[in-house]
This record gives sequence, structure tokens and C-alpha cells, in this order.
Amino acid sequence: MERATGPPRTPAPEGSSGPMPRVTLLWVGAALLVLVLWQHVYNRVAFEPIAYSQFKSALTAGEVTRVSVSETLIEGEIVGKAADGSAKLSLFRTSRIDDPKLTEQLLAAGVEAVGVHPSALSQMLFAWVLPLALLFGLWAYLSRRGTGPGAQAFSFGKSRAKLVAHRETDVSFAQVEGCAEAKAELVEIVDYLRHPARYSALGAKIPKGALLVGPPGTGKTLLARAVAGEAGVPFYSISGSDFVEMFVGVGAARVRDLFEQAKKQAPCIVFIDEIDAIGRQRGAHMGFSNDEREQTLNQLLVELDGFDANAGVIVLAATNRPEILDRALLRPGRFDRQVLVDLPDREGRQAILRLHARNKPLAEQVDLGLIARGTPGFSGADLANVANEAALLAARDHASVISQHHLEAALEKVVVGPERKSRRLTEHDRRRVAYHEIGHALVAARSPGADPIHKISIVPRGRGALGYTLQVPESDRFLMTKAEIFGRIRTLLGGRASEDLVFGEASTGAQDDLQRATALARQMVTVYGMSAAIGLPHCAQPAYAASVGAPGSLVRDCSEATAHLIDVEVRRMLDDAYREAREILSRERSKLERAVRELLQHETLDGRRFAELIQDDQPARAAA
Ligand code: ADP
Ligand code: MG
Ligand code: ZN
Repeated sequence: MERATGPPRTPAPEGSSGPMPRVTLLWVGAALLVLVLWQHVYNRVAFEPIAYSQFKSALTAGEVTRVSVSETLIEGEIVGKAADGSAKLSLFRTSRIDDPKLTEQLLAAGVEAVGVHPSALSQMLFAWVLPLALLFGLWAYLSRRGTGPGAQAFSFGKSRAKLVAHRETDVSFAQVEGCAEAKAELVEIVDYLRHPARYSALGAKIPKGALLVGPPGTGKTLLARAVAGEAGVPFYSISGSDFVEMFVGVGAARVRDLFEQAKKQAPCIVFIDEIDAIGRQRGAHMGFSNDEREQTLNQLLVELDGFDANAGVIVLAATNRPEILDRALLRPGRFDRQVLVDLPDREGRQAILRLHARNKPLAEQVDLGLIARGTPGFSGADLANVANEAALLAARDHASVISQHHLEAALEKVVVGPERKSRRLTEHDRRRVAYHEIGHALVAARSPGADPIHKISIVPRGRGALGYTLQVPESDRFLMTKAEIFGRIRTLLGGRASEDLVFGEASTGAQDDLQRATALARQMVTVYGMSAAIGLPHCAQPAYAASVGAPGSLVRDCSEATAHLIDVEVRRMLDDAYREAREILSRERSKLERAVRELLQHETLDGRRFAELIQDDQPARAAA
């Protein structure tokens, strides 16, 4: 958790109109208020409220001398007899009641009668001036105070940067694992912040800005805080989305303000998280907040140029989509250094797991290396999540230590979602799911280079999965051959092929498989140049450039004719893969049946047991 001290105190902003007129206005308002209130109170005290019947009887007795009749009230004078017989004049007030004869009676009694309408002035005072004055007073009060929730709402232009002084940023490099290269690059910045004189004496220019680039959850934010923690300098962090407001010009004002504060605090670190929210290519979008973002970005560029390289302010920024950043941001003198914070490799994952297990009691036999092996593609945040889930599961078991099976269960929960024991499948559906999953597993086992089967389960999990087959690679993969991708497509289609083979009919269970298989085939054809019919041209672009679809999806970038060819090619690949999967399964039907029987009985199969079940009966043939 970030612990932030409130926004740094800055002198209260001066009113644009200067202090004099504002004070006068306040005085006039106050005087009016007092006047109106006084009138009100005087009326209350002076006029004695009486009943309408009382008023009528006084009228008949001829004691009423003067009345003023308004829409709702009748006020007037009564000259009555006091106890000692002398005449006594009293003021009265009564509510007006619908009484058509009243006027007649008043005239007959010779009373001096006046009709009254509420004055336009007093009405306006009550309806407009008073509430406005109150609002104005409240606003003045809140903006004067300068902090608290009100200040946020009333100081649009103030930057929301949180100043986290270095005692608060107790993050150190030791708390970030699995990104040794990134750390090594940032050490230089730390060293500069510690000994700026040494650098300036040699005329060395330190990069003003470094851009931390990497997938979400790999520890970019953590690293930036670690830099500040290691260097022991103040740390301003602000998120890109904080700049983007509905009010045009606010973002730019925030940037200006942020850098003003930072320059006063130098040496320090300004950290702009999720910079893609403002730094996106200018002119590439037709969105509503386009102008605003451009202004903000322009201001940021101006500020980046506006201080000396050795002023001691280092700007770090983080993004997971560097491709969409405006090129002007990346040119030398601005964010000229990019630090790649990539997904951790196997050793890195183990180190991160160890780090997050530090304060958790682990059982003797726990092997974090095994978990690290089973989590390729996991980010630091995912691994932290696994460690935490394991602790939660252990607590639910009332265990005193976390053991390996807690970790395994946590891993599955993170990958496929929580078990849903309450979802009961009919016997027929269970059989179908079992054939589907064994179909995947068996085809995978017969595809060279496919990741080994780790676990097969028909316990429903998460949102949609009725069963799943978990494959875990032997080691991290960085390259895949054409045959391996094709094997993967075949494996994905193995579930559907198995259902078709056994039941002679498809079900809806394969939707996700089909989607993934199609995506893989499309990638082979359009971006990896792996189809003979299309050849080498790269004919799709990642979708982010046009900002449609999920990140990672492709947008066609070719002629209509080629697009048609691509569709044909994709179709052919899927058909081939499906046919092969079906062939494998029908050839090994007996093993399929054997494994399904066992799976239906136990609901889960681990990799080793599955390998035994599908072993060839005659060892001689297995060698072939
Ligand atoms: P990012 O900013 O890259 O999206 P964060 O820095 O916010 O990721 O990481 C979120 C959390 O995940 C961190 O607070 C930390 O607990 C954990 N984490 C992520 N990467 C690492 C890492 N390399 N080493 C240790 N913990 C990590
Ligand atoms: Mg982050
Ligand atoms: Zn499937």
C-alpha cells in the first residue's frame, strides 16, 4: 500500500479579481442579510398571533382600526380596553382564511384597509440573493481551507500528485525480483540522485526521463518507488488518468503545477504511471477528450524541455503499451531511455514466490521451484496472488503451515477460477466433458513438442469451464516452430474431435477452443508467414493502432483479394488439424476409453497417471 501524506501545502491562490472587490461584496451581502433577518425577527415579536375568530369578533365589536391584507396574512391594530378601562393598542396577526364577505365587512366597519403584495425586492432577496450568498460563502470557506475533500473539488488545476517522502517509500530494490536487467539500468539513476555533483563535475548528462515498459503487473510501479526509496529522495507519483478530465485545460494546468512543485523539491522523482492515458499519438483519435489530451501532452513536452538536465528532477513513467505513445515523447532529451520490465523467467518467478512467501510459514517439503515451473507467463502480481491464495486456502483448512497442495490448488484457482462444487452435471454431460478433456490430452500427448499434461479435471470451475486440461511446459518458451503451433491447434480441436467421434454430434462446449484455435491459425497465416498460399507478407496489424478490439487482436491490413485468401487458408488449416486430431483419437480409441473411465471415477487425473493410462501395451511399438 502506498502511504501518502496529503498534497503538499502551497500558498492559497489569490482571487483573480484582487482582494478589494471581493471584501466589499461580502460586506454588502452581510449587511443585506442582517437587514432582512432583523425585519423578520421584528415582525415576529411585535405582532401577536391571534385566531381568525378572535379577529372577526374584534371586527364586529368595532375595535379593529387598521389592517393590511396580504395573500396569506392579515395584520393590523386593535384598540381594546385594558383592565383599568383605558384604551390599549395592540398589534395582531392572523392567517387569512377564505372569507368572501371580509372586504364588505371591513368597509362597513370603516377600517383603514390596505392590500399588500410581497415586495419584489424581498422576494428576490429570499429566492436568489440569499442562497447565492450562502453558496459563495461556503465556496470561499472551502477553498480557503485548502485541504480536505472540498479542496479537491474546488481546485481543479492543482496537481493531484501525491508526495511520498522517502521515509514513506520504504521500498527497496530487494523487494523487486525477477527483473535484474531493469534494476541494473535504474541503479545508475539512483547513483546520480545520490551524488549529483560527481556527474555534473564531469559534464555528464543524466537522462531526464526513463520509461518503464512492460506488461501489467510486472512491477513497474514497484520499481519506480524502489528507485526513490533507494535514492532517498521525494517521490511524486501521479497516474496518467488523473490528468484526463472533462474540463479542457485542467490537465495542462496540472502538469505545470506538478513540475513547479517538483523543481522546488529537487532532487526528486516524478513518476507518471500509465502514461499512455495522456501520451497517446496525437491526432490518431477522434474521441471526445481529444483536445484535452493534446493540450496536456503538449504541456508535458514543454515541461520536459523546460528544466535543465542536471536540475535534479528525474521523470519516470510507466506504460504497458509503448507503441501507442506519441513519438515526440520518446525522442532524445525526453523519455530517451526505455527500461524493459518483462515477465519474469523461471528463476525470476521462483525468486518472486520466495519473496512473497517470506512472511508466510511454509511446510518443509514445499517446492517453490515446481510452482515456478508451472507458471510461465505469470507476472509478479499474479505470483503474489498465488502466494496469497495459498495462504487463504491453508487458513480455511485450519492448517498451521502452507503445504504444497495449497500452492497447487491456489495456482489452479488463479488459472481456471474457483471450483464450483454446487454445479451438478447430469451423468450424460459428465461423460461428454470427460471425453472432451481426454480428447485434448490425448492429442497433446501425441503431438511432438507439446507441453506435457499436468492435470485433467472434470470439476466445474470459474465462469464457464466444465472441465479443463492443464499443460505445463518443461521450460519457458521464446520461439515456436510451425509444427508446434500446428500441434497446439490440433490439441485445441481434440476436444471437439473426441465428442464428435464418440457421440456423433457436436456440443457448445468447444466454443472457447474454436476461438483460440482460429486465432492461432490466423496468426500463422497473417503475421508469421507460415502458409504457402499467402507466403511471407505481413498482412495484419495489432489492433491497438486503431484502438478497436482487445489488445492482442489483429486488424486486417491487406487487399480484399488477400483477405479472402486468408480466410480460405485459415479454414484449410483448421480442417487439417481437426482431421488429424480425429485420426489420432480413433486410432487410439481403446486408450481414450480407458482414460475416460478413470477420469469419470476420480474426477481428476494427474499427468503421471494419465501417461500410464495411455502407454502403449506393447513397448516395442512405442519406440516406433
Ligand atoms: P505494474 O505497475 O507493472 O502493473 P505493480 O508494480 O503495480 O505492477 O505490481 C503489483 C504488485 O505485484 C506489487 O505490489 C508486488 O506485490 C507484485 N509484484 C509485481 N512485480 C513484482 C516483482 N518483480 N517482484 C516482486 N513483486 C512484484
Ligand atoms: Mg502500475
Ligand atoms: Zn476444450
